[in-house]
Amino acid sequence: MDLGLRGKWALVCAASKGLGRGCAQALAAEGANVVITARGAEALEATAVALRAASPGVTVVAVAGDITTPAGRAAALVAAPQIDILVNNAGGPPPGDFRDWTPEHWHAAVEANMVTPIELIKATVDRMAERGYGRIVNITSSSVKAPIDFLGLSNGARSGLTGFVAGIARQPRLATRNVTINNLLPGSFDTDRLRAGFTSQAAKLGKTVDDMRAAREKTIPAGRFGTAEEFGQFCAFLCSQQAGYYTGQNVLLDGGAYPGTY
Ligand code: NAP
Repeated sequence: MDLGLRGKWALVCAASKGLGRGCAQALAAEGANVVITARGAEALEATAVALRAASPGVTVVAVAGDITTPAGRAAALVAAPQIDILVNNAGGPPPGDFRDWTPEHWHAAVEANMVTPIELIKATVDRMAERGYGRIVNITSSSVKAPIDFLGLSNGARSGLTGFVAGIARQPRLATRNVTINNLLPGSFDTDRLRAGFTSQAAKLGKTVDDMRAAREKTIPAGRFGTAEEFGQFCAFLCSQQAGYYTGQNVLLDGGAYPGTY
């Protein structure tokens, strides 16, 4: 299926590794030009080189910077002639016990995982509507649907974004102009973030990282972790011409881990 993305411009935030990289890779493979961001310039440039090699017909622009800061967002936004597709992503908040968190911890989580995507949506969405095409995908977490106790900062900050998106995705000035806004909720994907979580939990519980991996994998009906590549391909479909009637939704991608009927 041709997703109709050839020549579009996508801004994919936090994309030198993991899920963001998977999204950039899939969009580029469909012919979209991509702007990718991350704080670490070296890994970001290596990813840009790999994307250009895999999809020689597209333009890949790498913008090093912290997307959770006004300066990082401004640099990313001016790197493309226009933004047709926005994939919002940033590092997730740290795990912990809410008893240890100060207002500063909360402000950082809300800034990264709620205010940053809202600012980027605000900067792009009305011009998407004027052009009659726009796709926004926010990478959130399965913790929005089924909270994870030690990820309270994530549960809270991402739920704020989810509530906001539910409202604006349905604004007639966006929805009637072929602009869709959806949230993609990863379950367990085999990325650095997931591996770092196993390492810290293993140390706390006196178990091995392999024990932690195996125990988590057992909880997933698919019997495995997801890959960044399949996550990115799902994201590319949400950005496709074909997905224009799909907006304001929370799409759980978790190998069946969420146990509910709905
Ligand atoms: P990852 O493999 O650690 O990759 C994170 C990427 O984001 C890296 O390229 C990193 O590069 C970049 N990044 C982090 N903070 C940034 C910032 N402030 N500004 C710009 N770039 C930034 O993580 P992941 O697993 O892909 O996770 C992506 C998001 O999905 C996170 O919010 C995570 O909490 C969420 N999530 C992941 C899973 C999972 O199973 N993997 C499940 C649920 C939710 P630099 O460090 O160089 O900036």
